[in-house]
Amino acid sequence: LADRLHGLDRPTVWHEFSPLAAQHQAINLGQGFPDGDPPSFVQDAMHAAVFHKSANQYARSAAHMPLAQVLADEYNTKLKRTDIAAETHIATAVGCTHALYCALTGLIQAGDEVILLEPAFDIYSSQVQMAGGKAVYVPLRPSGKEGASQYFQLDLDEFERAITPRTKAFILNTPHNPTGKIFSQTELEGIAAVVQKHPRITILADEVYEHLVFDKAKEPHIPIASLLWDQTLTLSSAGKTFSCTGWKVGWAVGPPHLVQAVTAVQQWVTFSAPTPNQDAIAQALVQARQPYAGFASYYDYLADDYHQKQQLLVAALQSAGMTPIVPAGGFFIMADTSAIDFPFPTKETTPAMPATPMPRDWALSRWMTQTVGVTAIPPSAFYSPNNVPLAQNLLRFAYCKNAETLQEAQRRFAAYF
Ligand code: PMP
Ligand code: GLN
Repeated sequence: LADRLHGLDRPTVWHEFSPLAAQHQAINLGQGFPDGDPPSFVQDAMHAAVFHKSANQYARSAAHMPLAQVLADEYNTKLKRTDIAAETHIATAVGCTHALYCALTGLIQAGDEVILLEPAFDIYSSQVQMAGGKAVYVPLRPSGKEGASQYFQLDLDEFERAITPRTKAFILNTPHNPTGKIFSQTELEGIAAVVQKHPRITILADEVYEHLVFDKAKEPHIPIASLLWDQTLTLSSAGKTFSCTGWKVGWAVGPPHLVQAVTAVQQWVTFSAPTPNQDAIAQALVQARQPYAGFASYYDYLADDYHQKQQLLVAALQSAGMTPIVPAGGFFIMADTSAIDFPFPTKETTPAMPATPMPRDWALSRWMTQTVGVTAIPPSAFYSPNNVPLAQNLLRFAYCKNAETLQEAQRRFAAYF
């Protein structure tokens, strides 16, 4: 195995908990994917792409033009700009995961540092390593009341101290996986002011949960590109918004010099992203602005639907004696599990973390799967080894599931606790 993959050939948290849930017929609130199908207008768009529009051959390499055009319109509106052009400011990829991989590979030189805020979606650190970079971790710190996701706070001084002459990029995920935190205008202005002092730093803004926002008046999603356009590459995808995580349509939007870093890699890795998927998402993005199911748009419906799911899961977790840290957006709830007493095997390890004894949250998620019949993700998978203790009393539960699935989880909690 190549040196740059050192330690990455182990099974991940996803490999452990989805099969474990299946083995024990547990309700799988682990990996974040909806257990329903995309809405029919999205399915119809895919059908039309394949059968009526002949969108079946290689796409234009940088981006299928119909999707690039729709995205350019959307981001000009969102960011209050007029200069975002389909030809030069948009790249598409096989999901946000691939867009991020291309961005990191295109921007990072050997030894460059990339700042990650912990807990961080686990692919970030591995992709930084594969790009030859070094991840530098700044943990979000518990602050104030545990009840809501603003409990997780970035200490701006700590962030600024993490910047060195080697810092090349900073990954900012909002709405945030796994905490559900949405960074506020004030927080984003603080971050932008720090990053602006270092023109070599690029912000890679992962906004895949941008439409899953529960209180748009109090805690809106604000793209950091609206505050610091020149230094930001915005990454997003269609999987969460349209319940089609398997279609893997993602994109990068930003100034041409940053977008070029993505297209330069992308053209040699996949050449282009799948055409029908991109075509379908172009149609879906246009359709989503229309009234839907009694709401002003599909996006309003989606946010309301997810808010209800979130409330169902909050109640279920409370009934099990956990303290949910209620998210402002996204797919997940972090819950404080310190009140749960369970037999904690101090000698076991997990293939995902062979060097260390199994953390408490990992053992708890295994036990809960086997004994209670509900599976969560141990958030220690989202922390660097030094900061794993910050996760020990937490579990991440996904609510991107049908109401019946969430109700069954509640029944199982009620039967056990
Ligand atoms: N970023 C975050 C924060 C995520 O939670 C996910 C979930 N899969 C992704 C990126 C990946 O997005 P995609 O499926 O579009 O590759
Ligand atoms: N992002 C999802 C999660 O955090 C799915 C995991 C993945 O794509 N590897 O659960």
